Amino acid sequence: MLMNKAPSEPEAGPPTVDSGRLPGIDRAVVEPQVFAERLRLLAKQCRGLMLSGAIVSTLLAILQWRIVEHERIVEWLVLLALADQLSFRYTGYWMRHFDDPGQQRRALRHILSTLACTGAVWGLASWMLYVPGNFEYELVTILVLFGVTMATVVLFSTFGIAIVTRAIAVWIPPIAHTLYVGDRLHIYLGAGYLAFVGFTITFGWRVSNEHIASIFRLFENRLLNQRLAESQASLARSNTDLQRNNEALKTALQRIEEMSVRDELTGVHNRRFLTRRLDAACDRRQQYGRTMSIALVDVDHFKKINDTYGHNVGDDVLKFLAVEARSRLRPDDLFARYGGEEFVCLLPDTDADTAAAVGERLRKAIAEESPRRTPHGIEVTVSIGIAVYEPGESVKDWLRRSDEALYSAKHQGRNRLVVAPKPPPVQLQAAG
Ligand code: GH3
Ligand code: MG
Ligand code: MG
Repeated sequence: MLMNKAPSEPEAGPPTVDSGRLPGIDRAVVEPQVFAERLRLLAKQCRGLMLSGAIVSTLLAILQWRIVEHERIVEWLVLLALADQLSFRYTGYWMRHFDDPGQQRRALRHILSTLACTGAVWGLASWMLYVPGNFEYELVTILVLFGVTMATVVLFSTFGIAIVTRAIAVWIPPIAHTLYVGDRLHIYLGAGYLAFVGFTITFGWRVSNEHIASIFRLFENRLLNQRLAESQASLARSNTDLQRNNEALKTALQRIEEMSVRDELTGVHNRRFLTRRLDAACDRRQQYGRTMSIALVDVDHFKKINDTYGHNVGDDVLKFLAVEARSRLRPDDLFARYGGEEFVCLLPDTDADTAAAVGERLRKAIAEESPRRTPHGIEVTVSIGIAVYEPGESVKDWLRRSDEALYSAKHQGRNRLVVAPKPPPVQLQAAG
């Protein structure tokens, strides 16, 4: 076959053309796709060339009609039509197998064979349409063959080997013909044809390499885009997961934070939270100069309740007390468990009289409600010590004074409320 006369066999494996490789792209992944695309383009151009070839060959036949024997013209046209028919059927058949990497090289071989056939028939025009002594008509045929060859370079640039095969197939008959005629003019012509074939192959090979590289780049870009889209989708999924986890973490953190400032038994705030709030309140008090009070609430004879009814009942009493106090205080008031059966109320914007009124209300409510709302109808009473914050006073001293008031209430017989006296100025100075 003519294609076997090609100077090299790059089709032994897909051509290795440096496509300016993109990072992260494995060439082996895109290679079969690129090869299939090149085959598709080659087949498409083959079929396109057949149509224009039919027009050109008809025009050539019309031109030669006056001087060449009609039988020979018809014979040549029939030969060309047969070769085209063969090429059309082969390419049509192989087009269905281009995407199968196992079939790609066979497909190429067969298409190259048909290219060689049609090329050789074109070249045969130099023999079949030759009439001795009609050089200008011979020249017309040769010019047409030049055109056919140049079209090959442009149209078959997806495979250098296709250009080589076609150029050699088209030009072997004319070169052989020049040798056959053998006069000086034809020998020169033959040398010119050879040079033209050499030029066509060299130039065509380079054009082909460029074309193949651009196809590689196209597919590598396509693959990169696809990977980018996949990465973006996976990133979006990760982001959604992350957001969901963050939300869960935030909720868990809020719960942990909430738990860390709550008393487990009664659900009211614990001593840690109370201390923080007292510190903050003192700072604000220094800033804004508002009056505020604390009430230290202690259950009377609580030990006795525990001893008589058991610890669980004691716990229920503490819970009752917490619920009762919370329901009777303002939302801004803080009610916290200070420890054991002692609770502290922080009453912002509250002077001694108001704090005493609030405390009394609470004390009475507990005494009145407890027989109905505690197990065994225990009569629970509380003693309360109130201390109004004195500017410059430390939290520790403020609490100590409320404790002293509470102690006084206990001392006076319990179930009562005592307001702590103002601290002596000396003590305040020391504290300040
Ligand atoms: P007073 O009237 O002088 O305050 O006497 P009291 O018995 O209430 O005071 P005391 O300090 O002697 O006893 C407090 C008791 O509170 C002792 C302790 O066992 C009990 N207690 C502390 N924390 C809890 C708790 O969480 N649950 C229960 N059930 N009892 C507790
Ligand atoms: Mg106590
Ligand atoms: Mg007590």
